[in-house]
Amino acid sequence: MAILLPGGAGFIGSHTAVELLNAGKEIIILDNFSNSKPEAITAIKEITGKDFKFYEIDYTDREKLESIFESNNIEAVINFAGYKAVGESVQKPIEYYTNNISGALVLLDTMRKYGCKKFIFSSSATVYGEPQKMPITEEFETGGTTNPYGTTKLFIEQILKDIYKSDNDWDICILRYFNPVGAHKSGLIGEEPKGIPNNLMPYVSRVAAGVLQELSIFGNDYNTPDGTGVRDYIHVVDLAKGHEKALQKLEKEETGLYIYNLGTGTGYSVLDMVHAFEKSTGKKVPYKIAPRRAGDIAMCYADPKKAKEELGWEATKTLEDMCRDSWNYTKSQMIN
Ligand code: NAD
Ligand code: UDP
Repeated sequence: MAILLPGGAGFIGSHTAVELLNAGKEIIILDNFSNSKPEAITAIKEITGKDFKFYEIDYTDREKLESIFESNNIEAVINFAGYKAVGESVQKPIEYYTNNISGALVLLDTMRKYGCKKFIFSSSATVYGEPQKMPITEEFETGGTTNPYGTTKLFIEQILKDIYKSDNDWDICILRYFNPVGAHKSGLIGEEPKGIPNNLMPYVSRVAAGVLQELSIFGNDYNTPDGTGVRDYIHVVDLAKGHEKALQKLEKEETGLYIYNLGTGTGYSVLDMVHAFEKSTGKKVPYKIAPRRAGDIAMCYADPKKAKEELGWEATKTLEDMCRDSWNYTKSQMIN
């Protein structure tokens, strides 16, 4: 029985693939490389010393998707496929709604056709909108997303709740990621944004590498300890291990619809991140203070207790690990 990973060549999918293979699972990856490269597939094999099937297809292509289910025995699906750039989603809502939501529906419909009903979904802390309190528990209200990307996550969560309500044979786990950073220690897989990065850590790494001149810190007048935005950064390997635990839960327990925050529970400011990065890498990160970025919230960090209690999962990697591994990956990609 295999675990299908649509979008498994991407940042979080590739790290999850490594953890699943290391845990002795059989996996199958499908990806259309719209935001990743074939090298990621080779790297996963190199890191783990294990082989697996890979299909270069678009997950919205029902016929090709069906042929994968037809010729394999798929036990569960962990869906990483989708577009994820917040700013771009404002410019291209049709592309985002089509790829993320129609894609998920084609996938879920195909799963139903083949009687495969275990599904893990990559959701995001963005579904909480702008909460009034911290830390964020899974019981907080969702809604108030400020861009089409976030709204695709919210809608898919609703679709999954409705599917489970209609048929309790489905076994669904929604994982709400906080801010994934870092990379595998090998430096072979990591986050590879196309063009100029939007997210903080890839931007910081590129400034340190001299590829970008300076970091713009978006606002220093937030109601936070140093005025800059606070987030819950989590090492991608910790996050990947969360998927393995979620899968164990779906395999062992009775069916259900489960929702977990995957974060560390600690918030760091933008300046904390810059200083930690400088300290752990010995590189300077020149920065300037710039206006706030539209749609940003002041603070966002998880209460990860539920995942600890119910999945037996918690993040163990430190901020230093995150900075060192992000830098290690950027160096291997950018320098030389
Ligand atoms: P990523 O872009 O690195 O990976 C997504 C992968 O899906 C890429 O390899 C891309 O080529 C593939 N893909 C996209 N559309 C496809 C399609 N139509 N058919 C086949 N493959 C397709 O992103 P990531 O950071 O690994 O994120 C994985 C998931 O987690 C996404 O759904 C994302 O929205 C979600 N998420 C990410 C973050 C984050 O900060 N990285 C935070 C919260 C949630
Ligand atoms: N940020 C910044 N400069 C950048 C990119 C991000 O100051 O070039 C800040 C951003 O305002 C937020 C934090 O870093 O406070 C994390 O931003 P990111 O885009 O990585 O994640 P998200 O906004 O999705 O939490």
